[in-house]
Amino acid sequence: MENTVLVVEDNEINRELLVTILEGTYNVLEADNGKKALDILWKLKNKVSAVITDLIMPEMDGFQFLEEYSSSPELSTIPVIVSTSQSDSESEVKCLGYGAWDFIKKPYNAEIIRFRVKNVIERSELYVLRKLRYQEQFDTLTGIYIQNMFVHQTKKMLKENPDIEFMLLHFDIYQFQVYNSVFGRREGDKLICHIADMLRELEKHIKPVTYCRIEADVFGICMPRKDGEFIQRLMDEFQKDLKAYQRDYNILSNLGVFYIEDREASVPAMIDHAKLASKECKGSYIQNYYIYTEQMGKSIEEAQAIVNDMEQAMKEEQFVLYLQPKYSLADYRLKGAEVLIRWVTPDKGMVSPGKFIPVFEKNGLIMKLDYYVWEQSCRLIRSWLDRGIKPFPVSVNISRVSMYNPRMVEEIHELTLKYDVPAELFQLELTESAYTDNPEAIKRAMRQLQEYGHTILMDDFGSGYSSLNTLKDISVDVLKLDMKFMAASGSENQKRSESIVANVIRLAKDLDLPVIAEGVEEKEQVEFLSSVGCEYVQGYYFAKPMPVKEYETLAFQVESVFR
Ligand code: C2E
Ligand code: CA
Ligand code: CA
Repeated sequence: MENTVLVVEDNEINRELLVTILEGTYNVLEADNGKKALDILWKLKNKVSAVITDLIMPEMDGFQFLEEYSSSPELSTIPVIVSTSQSDSESEVKCLGYGAWDFIKKPYNAEIIRFRVKNVIERSELYVLRKLRYQEQFDTLTGIYIQNMFVHQTKKMLKENPDIEFMLLHFDIYQFQVYNSVFGRREGDKLICHIADMLRELEKHIKPVTYCRIEADVFGICMPRKDGEFIQRLMDEFQKDLKAYQRDYNILSNLGVFYIEDREASVPAMIDHAKLASKECKGSYIQNYYIYTEQMGKSIEEAQAIVNDMEQAMKEEQFVLYLQPKYSLADYRLKGAEVLIRWVTPDKGMVSPGKFIPVFEKNGLIMKLDYYVWEQSCRLIRSWLDRGIKPFPVSVNISRVSMYNPRMVEEIHELTLKYDVPAELFQLELTESAYTDNPEAIKRAMRQLQEYGHTILMDDFGSGYSSLNTLKDISVDVLKLDMKFMAASGSENQKRSESIVANVIRLAKDLDLPVIAEGVEEKEQVEFLSSVGCEYVQGYYFAKPMPVKEYETLAFQVESVFR
């Protein structure tokens, strides 16, 4: 590939001369002042291999050009040769200060010029290589290791010191972005450099040790295992140092500690564990370090296990539909049911949806599960119809994540067509807080489902932010009021929450929206709900979620058990 050289010179004759000298060997670009040269460099910085610049030019002279060029880390790897008229050592010193690589003198000697250009290009390639190699190992801001090198060095240290027990630390500044926005980025960078210096200082007292900047304000340290008392003293030292560094702001640091048991485990996993522990600090002044315990990791490991098991579970039909009946308070008769999924695993028994639904929502698998539940529910309704039963409607849940599936409405509609299920038997529950995620799209989807004949229930009403007022322009048919939000009977707040519930029900009536009270467990609750005119209830007091067979017996043979 032919190298490109940029010639910056206002004197046309001199410029032509340089072009002629270089032309056979290089691809030559021209500019007649520093400003134009910078424009070209910004556009073609990856193409230009070297620059020859004059010093005295209109608009932007060579010094100014060099100054701008040297302040940009991207441009300053391109070598610049300055052309001077006489031996002017003062200018040369100034140019060297701005990072000039070499000089050529007028009148021009073609051979010398070609040699110098060739030399700087070769040197710059080495320079860039070295710089790259540096960046592969060291953080350019602080000069300490980056995570990759830290991982490498830590492994080595663990291997070379089999008799020493180690711990891995995750250190960061609590709300570093606040510090950044108060003092500006430059000061933020300075603070990060200061912390790196603190770690260099630490290295003088503790051996063996490895440390690095993981990212932003986050640092990793690996050193011999110490007890809580020692760690507290270390953090006190750090805090004292930070206090002395910045007196106008209370810099608060957090530390997570992971005691390394399995030395063969992956270092990034150790960092994750330490990070998890550091999360426990939550910016506390009193306890600014935490030592990792298994409990902290449990939920994460469980989540991972859940993801791993999901696909298999789908195939093996480990997901089972349960039905929880809904009753009318007017006559205590069963009027329908909600489908609630259960995961029956061969080894861990029944896993509750509270455990796995949030995991599935994070990784998107929930869309698959939702679809599975909808399809199984349609099949169930179909089987009832085929057996000549006149079933009650069934409601299924729509995860807030499924709302992001642009084909959701069609998928539901297609399922009802496929199983020939009347839309009024297939109701849909969407949690209240989903409406705030994406109100317009959701309103549209819900309206469309209503047009197909489905009933829309707003789940967990009262748990989020939506006021009754917003109900007017949202397409729902039924409110599900969660009794979780009710204070226990006999408690101080009972009267207050009862009056809120009563008002919600009254206002819902004004809007012609029926209310289902969920999670009803006590007789007193039932009586209260009746007294304020709530129409429907669902809760353990009446029936728990149950397998399909049990529901069929209850719903289609014995119509009411609570008379
Ligand atoms: P949800 O939609 O609010 O469902 C009601 C939950 O309250 C169910 O918990 C039900 O078993 C429970 N419950 C009913 N009556 C009572 C009672 O009297 N007392 C108490 N303490 N609890 C009662 P479950 O089955 O564990 O489901 C939890 C959540 O998981 C559901 O809350 C729903 O958000 C989600 N979920 C369950 N099945 C599915 C599903 O098939 N798809 C989707 N997307 N989410 C589901
Ligand atoms: Ca529900
Ligand atoms: Ca609910």
